[in-house]
Amino acid sequence: MSVATESSTSFESLNPATGEVVAEHPVHDEKAVAGIVEQARDAAEWWQALGWKERRLRLLNVKGSLTRNLNRMAELIHQETGKPVQDAQLETIMAITHLDWAARNAQKVLGPRNVFPGMIAINQKCVLEYQPLGVVGVIGPWNYPIFTPMGSIAYALAAGNAVIFKPSEFTPGVGVLLAELFAAVVPERPVFQTITGLGPTGGALAAHPGIDKIAFTGSARTAKKVMAACAQNLTPLVAECGGKDACIVDADADLDAAADAALWGAMSNAGQTCIGVERIYVVDSAYDAFLGKLTEKARDLRPGFDREAAYGPITMPGQLDIIERHIKDALDKGGTAVVGGAESVRKPYVEPVVLTDVPDDSAAVREETFGPTITVHRVKDLDEALEKANQTGYGLAGTIFSGNKARAMDVARRMRSGMTSINAFAAFAQVAALPFGGVGESGFGRIHGADGLREFARAKAITRQRFAIPGNLASFSRTE
Ligand code: NAD
Repeated sequence: MSVATESSTSFESLNPATGEVVAEHPVHDEKAVAGIVEQARDAAEWWQALGWKERRLRLLNVKGSLTRNLNRMAELIHQETGKPVQDAQLETIMAITHLDWAARNAQKVLGPRNVFPGMIAINQKCVLEYQPLGVVGVIGPWNYPIFTPMGSIAYALAAGNAVIFKPSEFTPGVGVLLAELFAAVVPERPVFQTITGLGPTGGALAAHPGIDKIAFTGSARTAKKVMAACAQNLTPLVAECGGKDACIVDADADLDAAADAALWGAMSNAGQTCIGVERIYVVDSAYDAFLGKLTEKARDLRPGFDREAAYGPITMPGQLDIIERHIKDALDKGGTAVVGGAESVRKPYVEPVVLTDVPDDSAAVREETFGPTITVHRVKDLDEALEKANQTGYGLAGTIFSGNKARAMDVARRMRSGMTSINAFAAFAQVAALPFGGVGESGFGRIHGADGLREFARAKAITRQRFAIPGNLASFSRTE
């Protein structure tokens, strides 16, 4: 949580569970951002000249440093977001996994390679290179304040770019600590810097002509503003936005496993997860049994700030109003609360809410709720489940539980999503080698894996003529 107005020169981050001040941070204005960009441009040249091996070594050293500081980082995330400390540790470990993968694979994915020229240009030697872009600005959210931005930071740095990170105003300390760890391992130049502030600080970064690419993670609403700022200089953008992810349960699914995984997907991090399960479509014959298991398990979950709590508070106070509005709207439109209800919203916590019979035009079905609430729907078959799952403007991730491999694969392919997980919740998010990103209002471009490395590099084609061929398109020799 943070308190500041847009004209403040500093702001405080607050613990959303206790309301206590975690720390005060400066607001970087346009002028301060310009100074940081200038330093980063110089650092980018130095970092690029360092070469693959040395960059890999430095990034692996940062990984070592982050591993040694895992508890310190997790405690800070716990304080700034309110999430249970063990969830903060898991998130930090996932971030470390990305740093490791990006460092180890950058040269293999992006290093120069020869390309077969084809018969018409057989006299050419062809080289494909992936060059660094220069300076990448990473604008991050608060819900996974180290894991999410690391999915861009690690890959951009490994590709040879300098990075300026603007963390969310709710979780600035995470960015400041990360910069401290980087500076200790790479003291020569500021190849990784953190700027703190509210939206306008991110806006100044996106609009600066010295930025070669923006990697944005946050809401679709903000992504549109960032895109407009980037448009001023034709700065390219990769945008990772929200979701309204669906989980489909087939008639022959393992219902216990499906209920456990769907509940974890819906309620962990208090539902404040871009790839969180927000809607469940259950094939008719399995509906009653599944709902019984889900509701029984949901009633056992308790929010809190202690180690035993299933999840923490709602980090952004304004989100509580959105969650309450979605529950009320669903109930007003004929929905039934089988677990909890509108009274489950008790600042700063929200008790688990399970809704049924919610019509398709409800906010709880169409808009991102970002709370520990879930809607469960009865459908006649997988085709109807898919049609309903694909009905929102979002398309980030999805889940299918089925006892039949072929049917599950078919659903996974047809789901309007960047990622689909079969018989588990979001397994793809743990695999650094796989691309991550959405379609539609969930954003564009891909982070993580080889695609994520290529997002932060410029493909360059170089040909060298080895001998002339009369009539060859690449020379005028045919006219001589
Ligand atoms: P947000 O859009 O409010 O803010 C994101 C970041 O943008 C913050 O750092 C904020 O300060 C900055 N910002 C705000 N206005 C700006 C402007 N005009 N120009 C530049 N930067 C600006 O999002 P949030 O509340 O921090 O995060 C929650 C959202 O993020 C949810 O929609 C969630 O689904 C999404 N999310 C997506 C992913 C993903 O990988 N797809 C991951 C995590 C979160």
